[in-house]
Amino acid sequence: MRRTLFTLIAFLILSISNGAMAQEVKRDIAQIKGDLYRFQNNFHYSVFYVTPAGVIVTDPINADAAKWLKAEIKKRFNLPIRYVIYSHDHRDHSAGGEVFAADGAVVIAQERAKRAIIGEKRPTAVPNITFNHKMDLELGGKHVELRYLGKNHSDNMIVMNFPAERVLFAVDFIPVKSVAFKTLSDSYIKGWIKSLKRVERMDFDILAPGHGKLGTKADVTLFKNYMRDLHGQVLASARAGKSLEETKASVDLSKYKDLFKFAKWSPLNIEGAYAQIQMNRRPN
Ligand SMILES: [Zn+2]
Repeated sequence: MRRTLFTLIAFLILSISNGAMAQEVKRDIAQIKGDLYRFQNNFHYSVFYVTPAGVIVTDPINADAAKWLKAEIKKRFNLPIRYVIYSHDHRDHSAGGEVFAADGAVVIAQERAKRAIIGEKRPTAVPNITFNHKMDLELGGKHVELRYLGKNHSDNMIVMNFPAERVLFAVDFIPVKSVAFKTLSDSYIKGWIKSLKRVERMDFDILAPGHGKLGTKADVTLFKNYMRDLHGQVLASARAGKSLEETKASVDLSKYKDLFKFAKWSPLNIEGAYAQIQMNRRPN
């Protein structure tokens, strides 16, 4: 009896601790190549670059994530964090920059990202340095190329190219082997397709996205084709005077059926594209 009770208690303790563990945040650091590392916080990723003169971090993701990353960088490399670069203003990537800024890290973002961060009261450090089209950053003999490629998933998105490692960090506008996120909110479809073409012309081997697994340039092309077909078909349907329901029924993106979330999100992508196209079509 006593033994049964003991087993039962042990089982309960185990169940409770398993339950607690299931809610724990998944954080990880993985080397991408050379001195470039990838930081994971649940479903969000950013990268950081280690140089002899200090570390360049990118999207902080949130304050707790940034605190964890700061401690890990201290433990592993014992180098100061000199720069923080935001990919764009959206809160789920930019939050937590104050954790690094408090120690003197300089915050960099695209010009309009700064305006959006202030205007939307994003819980992060306001950028100290902004740029419009491009900025080249050098630290400890290492280089990062920051490029604004036009409006896409946001109007202030930049990509970060690490030429020595031939890695491109691009957030939210190039999902790897996946359709676009839901109804394409805060986005600009035509600019988005142009941005993807610009990325195709850039020189890199590995694509490090803000969500999901690493990819390659082939993933950029695949997603560009998806967006081009989505936009082209929905535009033709809207021009033919079809309703959203008729458009959803007639648009055929089935050749992309193997992309992640295709069944669930591609109808939402059509919905978002349709709304944007109707809004942008000129009145007679
Ligand atoms: Zn975003």
